[in-house]
Amino acid sequence: MSDKTYLEWPFFEPRHAVLERELDAWAAQHIAQHHETDVDAACRRLVRQLGDAGWLQHAIAGAAGESIDTRAICLIRETLARHNGLADFAFAMQGLGSGAISLHGTPAQREAYLPRVARGEAIAAFALSEPQAGSDVAAMQCAAVQDQQGGHYVLNGEKTWISNGGIADFYVVFARTGEQPGARGISAFIVDADTPGFEIAERIQVIAPHPLARLVFRDCRVPATQRIGVAGQGFKVAMSTLDLFRTSVAAAALGFARRALDEALAHAMQRKMFGQMLSDFQMTQAKLAQMATGIDAAALLTYRAAWQRDQGRNVTKEAAMAKLTATETAQQVIDAALQMFGGLGVVSEQPVERLYREIRALRIYEGATEVQQLIIARELLRAANTKEQ
Ligand SMILES: Cc1cc2nc3c(=O)[nH]c(=O)nc-3n(C[C@H](O)[C@H](O)[C@H](O)COP(=O)(O)OP(=O)(O)OC[C@H]3O[C@@H](n4cnc5c(N)ncnc54)[C@H](O)[C@@H]3O)c2cc1C
Repeated sequence: MSDKTYLEWPFFEPRHAVLERELDAWAAQHIAQHHETDVDAACRRLVRQLGDAGWLQHAIAGAAGESIDTRAICLIRETLARHNGLADFAFAMQGLGSGAISLHGTPAQREAYLPRVARGEAIAAFALSEPQAGSDVAAMQCAAVQDQQGGHYVLNGEKTWISNGGIADFYVVFARTGEQPGARGISAFIVDADTPGFEIAERIQVIAPHPLARLVFRDCRVPATQRIGVAGQGFKVAMSTLDLFRTSVAAAALGFARRALDEALAHAMQRKMFGQMLSDFQMTQAKLAQMATGIDAAALLTYRAAWQRDQGRNVTKEAAMAKLTATETAQQVIDAALQMFGGLGVVSEQPVERLYREIRALRIYEGATEVQQLIIARELLRAANTKEQ
């Protein structure tokens, strides 16, 4: 049983504790971890389950324009990650993939996509990265050129590392429209998966399997009404979407770390050696103490960022601090837990072995650790410069 005392922290309102309790009970009954051989089918099933049970409503903006409750999506991701990493992935991608529509879509775009995303009837994807533009997003080359009549954009280029690539019903694609150089000449588009000229070029296998693909656009015509937000402002659209979901990546890392600590505690208290239990050794106790302290420190940063965003304040620095700390800490916590299991820790599909694989990519995607460090430093220096002037 995981420590739930953090739900009493002042960042939360009573509804958050209720949400966590209900989801925890639902997840234990419906999505307790099991080995998946077909991740595409498993993801489709999980999206449906999450939609049917109403959890995906939290991943989108409300019909009346209510904004996304950051603390709620963080609690949901933390809880799902503790039970089943693929369920967390399915929830997160419905949110990230439709996030630009929630935040910047027209009423018609919101109406056409968000209810289907929330019901689990349409699977969403977020297509920003390219082979030559990962951390350096503004180097993207995928281009969208408006046709003579202005009614369509024609997309040409590639995207890679796209989660849900291959199973998504639509992709929010960022492409260069060239209003200005660099980051100020990018726009965002909704591309339906059946649009002619859109193709899944390659499926990518990773250490913690989930649907992932490289996409190709060849003279792919997209109606201008599918552009999200102002032409040339796509970089801002992408960054505001990431500002929201970056904090939830920290929350998912927390879920993985809490599960690892639970597994380590249970194992240490029943594994006999040298006439005692593993948990009787002070070296084990020091490890457990460090794991629990790291988790609380990461949780404080995560829920500070979530709370601050829900107050309507900018969280660029706080979200970066949360993601950096929670993902790095979770990696250390999971590694320590695996070590306590000895040989059992590396047996395929044991919970700690699975967590060890699942946490790794979180330190890379939605801005690698080094990119988070740059963001934090940039914000610090900007604030210091402003004070000096
Ligand atoms: C499993 C997975 C799922 C993903 N899902 C999506 C998705 O759904 N949509 C999407 O658009 N993208 C997705 N990505 C892409 C992800 O966001 C990129 O992998 C990430 O931004 C890093 O880009 P890159 O892989 O090109 O690495 P690079 O940009 O080549 O960076 C390599 C490494 O260089 C280091 N580095 C970067 N910048 C600096 C710096 N300034 N100083 C020092 N070191 C630095 C970091 O350690 C970094 O990991 C996913 C990636 C993975 C692995």
